[in-house]
Amino acid sequence: MIKKFVRKRSIHLCVVNTGGCNGCDVEIVSCLAPRYDIEQYGIYVHNNPREADILVISGPTTLPWIDRVKELYEKVPEPKIVVAVGACALSGGIFKEGHVLGGIEKIIPVDVKIPGCPPRPSEIIEGILKSVHLLAEKEKRLKK
Ligand code: SF4
Repeated sequence: MIKKFVRKRSIHLCVVNTGGCNGCDVEIVSCLAPRYDIEQYGIYVHNNPREADILVISGPTTLPWIDRVKELYEKVPEPKIVVAVGACALSGGIFKEGHVLGGIEKIIPVDVKIPGCPPRPSEIIEGILKSVHLLAEKEKRLKK
């Protein structure tokens, strides 16, 4: 199903670090490198929320990021999918006791959760492919 879907059109990601240590972002960037090559699936990082299909969020969401994340979420057109990458995005992780939101699910719906500190590129790719599957289903439902 994913193969058929990505052959019809490419998938665009908007990756946002909401104040983490960058560890998750290094692993996300590794997904673009030849070893993991996420682009082989027709998945590209563009970082323009208005053109994105999937919002990929890392970091614990520091307080100044709260409104910004809500704004970014609103800018992504429907159907959209949110992927939370890393323990920080899921629960605040090691920053939990600081001035952070502690899990983006408190402000926007999360479709796919990728745990780890940081997760491996293979786990990130697995989660993103799962999100493409959900996106295809959502798109199908909207067309009905
Ligand atoms: S989950 Fe771990 S690696 Fe990722 S941003 Fe938080 S502390 Fe850094």
